[in-house]
Amino acid sequence: MPRFIHRSVKHKRNHQEKLSLQKDLRDSLSIYAPHKVLEHKFNEWKKSRSERSCASVISMTISRFQAINNTFGFHIGDAILQRVLYKLITNTPNEWQWVHLGDDKFLCLIMTDSTRLANVKMFCHQIKGLLEQPFYMEGYDFSLSIKFGSANFTEQQESFASLLKNANIALDIAKRNEKQSFELYSPFIDTGIHTSFEVESQLRKGISEGELELFYQPQWDFSKQDWGGLEVLVRWHHPKRGLLSPDKFIDIAEESGLIHPLGEWIVNKACENHHELLKVCTGMQFPVSINFSMKQLITPNFLESLLSIIKKNGLTPNHFVMELTESLAINAEEGSSILTKARKEGMKISIDDFGTGYSSLSYLKDLPIDEVKIDRSFLSQWTGCEKVQNGIIQSILHLAKVIGVSVVAEGIETKSQFDALHSWGCEKGQGFYLSGPMPHEKVVELMRNTIAKK
Ligand code: C2E
Ligand code: CA
Ligand code: CA
Repeated sequence: MPRFIHRSVKHKRNHQEKLSLQKDLRDSLSIYAPHKVLEHKFNEWKKSRSERSCASVISMTISRFQAINNTFGFHIGDAILQRVLYKLITNTPNEWQWVHLGDDKFLCLIMTDSTRLANVKMFCHQIKGLLEQPFYMEGYDFSLSIKFGSANFTEQQESFASLLKNANIALDIAKRNEKQSFELYSPFIDTGIHTSFEVESQLRKGISEGELELFYQPQWDFSKQDWGGLEVLVRWHHPKRGLLSPDKFIDIAEESGLIHPLGEWIVNKACENHHELLKVCTGMQFPVSINFSMKQLITPNFLESLLSIIKKNGLTPNHFVMELTESLAINAEEGSSILTKARKEGMKISIDDFGTGYSSLSYLKDLPIDEVKIDRSFLSQWTGCEKVQNGIIQSILHLAKVIGVSVVAEGIETKSQFDALHSWGCEKGQGFYLSGPMPHEKVVELMRNTIAKK
């Protein structure tokens, strides 16, 4: 119990006492305020997080809740808030930590070691459905209206306070729009683009107006001592914000469903570019890796459409590797049958960011795969001497060997990392030490020079 509560209010306080009382009050608020508890947990997470772990803050409100308090009294208002908090806690994943901030406001902190947050928007819609179901309490029927704003942790908005501020900005946007119940804060806000809906429509326009470009990052084949693969990485030349990396827009594309036309554009362009590359470099035998999300994979006719684009461009599926990021949402049976078909056609399957998700090992067991990519967070600040990192990397290499899948190490930034991976029998490597991502024309030049040297 905070100290100030025990003081006698009848006693007239002198100036010193007043100052001390104010300090106590401040301290007690800062210690016991629910958002401070989350802030403390967030700061602890930040200290020990891996490079690719994620966090998100959700701000939630019950619209027109004040009217319930005014009409039915605080005892009913409080019972409703308790009911809401109970439903939030019992119906969201364990890593979602909810607190009631006061009045109609709830706050949630999600911290995960996974590279991607599970589909926050989808969960919020489920919670909304649950909380908005009409219910009966003390002789009255109630139905609530719920709105969410969320902000994801990035290096730019790295403090809890800025995440909270941005989640509230997003919530304000959702509140202003009658038809909208969820808004994700977007880094576009400072360009006057305020909603993910606007980013989505700009991206849609960007696709049709040729603002997207494919970059390529070469992969090194350790045993051949030569380039042995290329990974396709999309970029957006935004008219106001310049060159944008996919981290700035892939999440919104996924949330909005725009990932499907975007993915189709990427596959078409990758085929077109590859066709051109093969004309110039007839000796080039390695495949090109394309990133797909699990959401794309399980879309009806995904594989049929992918195969038809490949054929239309005069190529065969064995020219490509499908890179998939781990996600909570995969239904192993459904995913597995699509991947089996893709493999039968000759495509290789690679699990991206291996070791960071929830289910790395069960993926190996349940899905037909050819390759794992060791996530670059395992190599971050690794000199080749650190015991734990050595252990993790060597274990993945050993495990992969036993079950017969090959390994690509991502994020090689130093010679010592390169040498250690080489000596431990890693098949392929990728990273700034070898080459950063580059435009298609530069890859054509690199491959032409490589072939000429042989
Ligand atoms: P990813 O698949 O893990 O891609 C590798 C990322 O690591 C790329 O960032 C690349 O630029 C960066 N990188 C490469 N070498 C190094 C290094 O040595 N050190 C460090 N620190 N970073 C390195 P990028 O291009 O910003 O891509 C970010 C993520 O966006 C990708 O991560 C991938 O998950 C997603 N993405 C990229 N292109 C596509 C796409 O066409 N479709 C889909 N669905 N997702 C994509
Ligand atoms: Ca990838
Ligand atoms: Ca990766």
